[in-house]
Amino acid sequence: MAYLTVRGLVKVDVNNSFLDYESETAPIEQRKRSLTRKLVDIIEYACNNSAAARERFDALDLSPHDFREINDLEKLSTFDKNDILNTQVKNPPFGGMLGVDQKNIRRIYRSPGPIYEPGERVYEDTRWAQAFRAIGIGPGDIAINTFSYHMTLFGFWLDDSLNRIGATVIPSGPGNTDVQIELMARLKVNAYLGTPSFLHSLSEKAISLGYDLKKDMKLKYGFVAAEMLSERLRKNLEDSFGMRLLQSYGTADIGCLGFECRSCSGMHVPEDVIVEILDPETRESLPPGKIGEIVATNFCREYPLIRFATGDLSYLIDEQCDCGRTSSRLGRILGRVDQLTKVRGMFIHPSQITEAMSGFPEIERCQLIVERSEHRDSITLLAKLQPSAVHNDNFKRSIEDALRNVVKLRIEVDFVEGDGFIESEKLIIDKREWD
Ligand SMILES: [Zn+2]
Repeated sequence: MAYLTVRGLVKVDVNNSFLDYESETAPIEQRKRSLTRKLVDIIEYACNNSAAARERFDALDLSPHDFREINDLEKLSTFDKNDILNTQVKNPPFGGMLGVDQKNIRRIYRSPGPIYEPGERVYEDTRWAQAFRAIGIGPGDIAINTFSYHMTLFGFWLDDSLNRIGATVIPSGPGNTDVQIELMARLKVNAYLGTPSFLHSLSEKAISLGYDLKKDMKLKYGFVAAEMLSERLRKNLEDSFGMRLLQSYGTADIGCLGFECRSCSGMHVPEDVIVEILDPETRESLPPGKIGEIVATNFCREYPLIRFATGDLSYLIDEQCDCGRTSSRLGRILGRVDQLTKVRGMFIHPSQITEAMSGFPEIERCQLIVERSEHRDSITLLAKLQPSAVHNDNFKRSIEDALRNVVKLRIEVDFVEGDGFIESEKLIIDKREWD
């Protein structure tokens, strides 16, 4: 197989099989050994170099010697954005979380909170580059990066990663649709980086300006992130431009945690990160298939994050993917942990209701009500139907079956008129009161 080495860092497979790293196809046991080595190393490094990390370990009376395998991570409690915020307020700018002297920090970014993130002098993380290669982007491609370079790190991360794989980048940032369209058409841009909704806006604007999306634009690859991508919008954009559109997932704190390959069956966890799924309540690590909170550990010496809880919900898929990569995959991002409601020992998330209802266009609006009387929980779906729909028992039962399939709980359906809803934008209303 022919390889081209770009900047001596990453092997690019010029035969276009979209697999760059031998490690991506390594046997699972080999990956586990490599991740274990990196974990032991980063824990020791963080304890010796980051005051905040050391404090977390000391508080639980743990030392690096207590961490010899990946499962040992369960000994350490997780931390989240609020914890970062609190520690930064007490000890600005980084709350003692840096693993290097501040003079080795190239940039300081800002996320809502505000939370300040450090940018290392040399960006060595290869995870976004893996995501690009999985789409097919490589040397010679011209990418337009519509993610922001202002204050936030995402634009820069992607920019550096494109450089790493030998692609050319146009740092356009968001907004300015007319100029974006001119750049895309005149410079024969063949890769789009941005949100799916912005690409949709660009397509509408381009059509209104008289462009033919397939003839005048040369888009072949789309990398989308930072937003949910519906299958309908994906298909719509892929068909309009004649391109492939794949999504990735990550956070501003810890970087890439998942990317789709061309098989589109979940998002591969990249090399160089450990992703766990935890039960939102018990904090136990969950096996593949079980929905829980995404918790991640990176190996970044400048900013080591060990067991960072993202607040996002998903599940792991362990079956081998057609593309040949052997890593686990994250399923769909189902939403935020704080939107979960627990009923009869099961979690319900608004996205599950939306999923169950997607097969019923006759439903104009719905709301799920959770109540409790005599120490028993009951769940009712209030549904308002289109005027033309038939309100019969068979239809009611088919909705109840669809709900049971997705939520795994018995939910009664009640057809109501418009004023039967509770005044709230929320899809799930929990009316239970606890003494
Ligand atoms: Zn794959």
